[in-house]
Amino acid sequence: MAVPKGWVSTWKMKLLDKKVAIVTGGGSGIGRAVALLYAQHGASVVVTDLDEAGGNATVADIHTAGGVAVFVHADSSKPEDGLKVVDIATATYGGLHIAVNNAGIGGPIAPTGSYPIDGWQKVIDINLNGVFYGMRYQIPAMLACGGGSIVNMASILGKVGTRFSPAYVAAKHGVIGLTETAALEYADKNVRINAVGPGYILTPLLTKSLDEGMLKSIAGLHPMNRLGTPEEVSELCLWLNSDKASFVTGSYYNVDGGYLAQ
Ligand code: NAP
Repeated sequence: MAVPKGWVSTWKMKLLDKKVAIVTGGGSGIGRAVALLYAQHGASVVVTDLDEAGGNATVADIHTAGGVAVFVHADSSKPEDGLKVVDIATATYGGLHIAVNNAGIGGPIAPTGSYPIDGWQKVIDINLNGVFYGMRYQIPAMLACGGGSIVNMASILGKVGTRFSPAYVAAKHGVIGLTETAALEYADKNVRINAVGPGYILTPLLTKSLDEGMLKSIAGLHPMNRLGTPEEVSELCLWLNSDKASFVTGSYYNVDGGYLAQ
């Protein structure tokens, strides 16, 4: 079979050349994998995190690999930090085209009838309000650049419930509704906004609080009978944030080893 004209020249194409991207929570797990992949694909990446050591390590790894990145210490649950990050992205790299609102926590594990009030507030502040504060300032900056693309990190638990994580489940359901609403508002203004829903992914979010046995039984909840990797999530984010997904907005995509198909 003949090789289609142009095939060789696009084979090694970088998907995010000349783009400026913000990745929140980029110092660990999924955010770190996203930041590394986006830099590999030519983006200048603004890595944010509360964890300074983790954020700086991600940026150092990008620099070592020849990529462009800067770390900004920022708390996603603070609106003023959302503005600060966008201002730094614009001042440092001249604009903003891509954002991955990924920073998140698991929160307390308890039934709704005895769930700690402060724990509820903290999870909603970071996992839901943080996504809004991010988009609140990212969208105007993208409009000023002629358009952009946002991925909000939801979860399979944005589509179904699970016992003892009411705040996390409520926040992730909220992220999907917020994503759909914002996508409608900017669909004709060249800003695409989508949500990604990972199954259980092997990151510190899980390994900090669960032992080997628990991880094994959680892996068994997925038809593929394993946990996902941060890199598997980052590949879906990359596609959604690239021009390859030019007709995709307001959507929610699972990357979950079949979890939600059950
Ligand atoms: P992770 O390894 O714990 O990474 C999350 C990063 O976000 C950490 O560096 C964390 O810092 C940081 N962070 C927490 N609160 C923050 C805040 N207010 N502002 C800025 N940074 C903050 O977790 P992950 O598994 O990669 O999770 C990333 C996202 O994927 C989250 O939204 C999570 O809900 C979602 N997700 C994860 C899974 C999973 O199974 N792992 C499944 C579905 C969805 P600290 O370490 O200092 O807290």
